[in-house]
Amino acid sequence: MKSYLFDPPPIPALPISGSEKLFPIRRVYCVGRNYAAHTLEMGGDPTRERPFFFSKPSSAVIASGEDIPYPPHTNNLHHEVELVVAISKEANHVSVEEASKCIFGYAVGNDLTRRDLQAEAKKAGRPWETSKGFDFSAPISKIVPADKCGLLRQGEISLSVNGECRQQGDLKHMIWSVDEIIAELSTLFTLKPGDLIFTGTPAGVGKLEPGDNVTCRVAGVATMSNRVSAPSCPRVEV
Ligand code: MN
Repeated sequence: MKSYLFDPPPIPALPISGSEKLFPIRRVYCVGRNYAAHTLEMGGDPTRERPFFFSKPSSAVIASGEDIPYPPHTNNLHHEVELVVAISKEANHVSVEEASKCIFGYAVGNDLTRRDLQAEAKKAGRPWETSKGFDFSAPISKIVPADKCGLLRQGEISLSVNGECRQQGDLKHMIWSVDEIIAELSTLFTLKPGDLIFTGTPAGVGKLEPGDNVTCRVAGVATMSNRVSAPSCPRVEV
């Protein structure tokens, strides 16, 4: 049996509320433009555009309480508070009616975005990797099992920066429901245990600066706080 050249990378994981066990993370999917008011603020048309998917590497996930080092190559780091759904059953072409059986639980997440790089990518028709999938770009709270909080279809979602409310919405205003997102995503990818899905952000996205304290909350699920720390050195010596 062959051994690895070096130690394999650790499996990213999140704490589970009320459990000693960790939730191991496989893939992190994200939905774009899933609340009408945010679609409008980004210049889209919520009556014509269907939400779409992108992903972040699982290595980008950080926990509540951890610092967000201000990323390099941006002057416009944006916050996006989102409900995150944790999957614990395989799903391939699952129906909307059956979709909730794949849900293990929920968390609150922050889909951090280098908005300036995203605007350049949109203009040039290029991928969003550098604007969405950078290091530390996916702060996510502990995961609350659905058997504790129930299936979430409504409830307040909010984000504050240094105590000032910046985003406030209700899960019931999603254009695509959680069940519809799971059903649609499962036609594009086979969902597997360990997958996480960011379900879109309400209106009010905006800039974060070094030193900011950002608090994300989904009522009945979790509250997460992270501090934006000074930029880390962008130079990498090889
Ligand atoms: Mn988002």
